[in-house]
Amino acid sequence: MGEPESLIATGFGAERLDSSKTRSLFPSVPECAEFIRGSPLNECGLDTHWRVREDTGLRFLPFVLETVVRAVVFDGQLHFTRDAVLRTIQPGEVAVDILQAGICETDMQLCQGYMGFRGIPGHEFVGIPRTGRFAGRRVVGEINCACETCATCRGGGRNHCPTRTVVGIVNHDGAFAETLLIPERNLHPVPDSISTSEAVFTEPLAAACRIPQQISMNGQKVTVLGDGRLGNLSAQVLRHHGCQVQVVGKHPAKLDLLNRLGISTRLLSELEPDRESDIVVDCTGSPTGLSTALQLVRPCGTIVLKTTVASSQTLHMAPFVIDEITLLGSRCGPFDEALRLLQAGAIQVAPLLSASYPLEEAEQAFAHAARRDALKVVFTIQ
Ligand SMILES: [Zn+2]
Ligand SMILES: [Zn+2]
Repeated sequence: MGEPESLIATGFGAERLDSSKTRSLFPSVPECAEFIRGSPLNECGLDTHWRVREDTGLRFLPFVLETVVRAVVFDGQLHFTRDAVLRTIQPGEVAVDILQAGICETDMQLCQGYMGFRGIPGHEFVGIPRTGRFAGRRVVGEINCACETCATCRGGGRNHCPTRTVVGIVNHDGAFAETLLIPERNLHPVPDSISTSEAVFTEPLAAACRIPQQISMNGQKVTVLGDGRLGNLSAQVLRHHGCQVQVVGKHPAKLDLLNRLGISTRLLSELEPDRESDIVVDCTGSPTGLSTALQLVRPCGTIVLKTTVASSQTLHMAPFVIDEITLLGSRCGPFDEALRLLQAGAIQVAPLLSASYPLEEAEQAFAHAARRDALKVVFTIQ
């Protein structure tokens, strides 16, 4: 069957099949399905979920082939579905079966309209690629999918590629699904000594590791605003880099957790503006975080913004000029460094795991993640 194989081997684009040939090749839906099962498409590893649908509405497409997965979808409303349609796999991508995926603040913001997101959210994951050089091994993945050819990418700034997609955030279906499609070059294998429920923290931990990449940290007096997931990880990373760290938060139990890690804490309600911090890191996820930071940072100090907030805010900018405050945006960080810290046991993530849910209980999982007492809530998928 040389001819049909070459037609289908052009990719997952079985829809590219010429209609007259398709009719003669596949006189019925079951025969088409049978052919696909035995075709080179299987090399892409997505054979098991192929669903063949007869679509009478399309004149030139007697059969539309789709891969469907169980997933959590946001289409204005967050819900679970058994048959989210996986898009066509692109050159350089692999299909990764997701083991665990974490819910983060950004996911909750997306569901409140941030980035106008529609699709499958989820960007913190551990999974197993079906094909490629990491096939069968556990991996974590960087979330920025860059073009690799523009001036920004060639200059080493692929996380800022202007045409990038971002897994689970910008034009790229994410990891709250059985299977994720992602460029193979984004993947990092997880060392055996790191458990899956520790490795699921790699992406947010890498984001925390971004801060000392951007600004010199040694011996600095740092205040981290926010006692949640990212605040906790940032505090641990900055202490590891030799800073004097204090975390300011609203939740006694979460602050207590930091105290047990040897990090000093203050309740926000008891905070007196002292303007003595060299660096203030805003991990509050709140529109008021920046104005609180301004009350704590010393003149000529730096405020690091880790928070993405869906709502816009108005702020009096004069203090930044008068006190020569540096405002530093900080986003995605180095995965290799995060994995190294996890492997060395330098960062404690196990106490941050609050609960695990199946995809089917998406609404409960998101509601739990939004609870005051929650830290990291994950989906355990397979
Ligand atoms: Zn995140
Ligand atoms: Zn680019």
